[in-house]
Amino acid sequence: MKAAVLEALERIIVKEVDDPQIDDDSALLKVESIAVCGSDVRIFHHGNPRVKPPAIIGHETAGVVVKAGKNVTRVKEGDRVAVGADVPCGQCPWCRNGLGNNCAINYAIGYQIPGGFAEYMKLPRLVLEEGPVTPFGDSLSFDVAALAEPLACAINGLELVNMSIGKTVAIVGLGPIGCMMIDLARIMGAVKVIAAQRSRKRMEIAQAYDADVYIATQEEDLVARCREETGGTGPDVVITSCGSVEVHEQAVEMVAHRGYVNFFGGLGKNVRPATILSNTIHYKECFVTGSHGCVPRHHELAVKLLERGLVRVEPLITHHFPLDQVNQAFETMESKQGMKIIVHPHG
Ligand SMILES: [Zn+2]
Ligand SMILES: [Zn+2]
Repeated sequence: MKAAVLEALERIIVKEVDDPQIDDDSALLKVESIAVCGSDVRIFHHGNPRVKPPAIIGHETAGVVVKAGKNVTRVKEGDRVAVGADVPCGQCPWCRNGLGNNCAINYAIGYQIPGGFAEYMKLPRLVLEEGPVTPFGDSLSFDVAALAEPLACAINGLELVNMSIGKTVAIVGLGPIGCMMIDLARIMGAVKVIAAQRSRKRMEIAQAYDADVYIATQEEDLVARCREETGGTGPDVVITSCGSVEVHEQAVEMVAHRGYVNFFGGLGKNVRPATILSNTIHYKECFVTGSHGCVPRHHELAVKLLERGLVRVEPLITHHFPLDQVNQAFETMESKQGMKIIVHPHG
């Protein structure tokens, strides 16, 4: 089969490799849509301890099961399935308690397990037993289903901030995750969504989502505007869906008393650590949370929300590339000219 192989840092070659071998306990997925994630681009440039080249990366996948071993019960030939990233090991206390994204091994597709930038992807036994493999109906396109993975991560983030009806939610960073979070915050009870973004280009796409307030942080003071929009108290929930350390600090600065902050976006290697405004946290009695990845339950829920149209991802899909142009797909992702870039291994 044809696959995009990460051979070394900053070197992805599209070439013929051996077809994955399927045994009685595994299945073969024909990859129809695989979305480029920001973390794929980071792996391309900086590597990852869980990725050992030569490797096939990619973890936002949707396709059709074309072969299933005789012991496989979770999927069957012909099933349209979305496949996520984090795979619980099934053994450790975290994984056994439904918190597999906190597993010390942290198995993931496109990391230790070969990923989706290929014509075919093996679903090994562990993935089929423990992993995020969710069938979906004809109403969903493969492109949309592939985005169940990032949506699942967004759900995890919003589950950690004690959402309930009546909250004001500020989302800082309107990349794909921030935009999905606008819809998600609504269905989780937000009465006011404040959406903030630095670059103009992404702001344009984010307007397709119905936030109550859009703040261009290049031109306006984020903290002052959020206070103004909340009668001085600050938002009940602040999500940082961006990689800015300043925004991490501003989030704590502006969140309401008893409010919740979620550091969704990680910080780059060369970014200074945030200053913990511990006395602000002390007086506000606020809660500072983080979130990373998701568990299979989130992935199933994400597919359901997409099927019901409760969260929209179509406006985010801006580019399509064949597998041969995977390097161009990564460049487009990095240029931030688009939002979600989908690669189609079968053209
Ligand atoms: Zn991803
Ligand atoms: Zn584990």
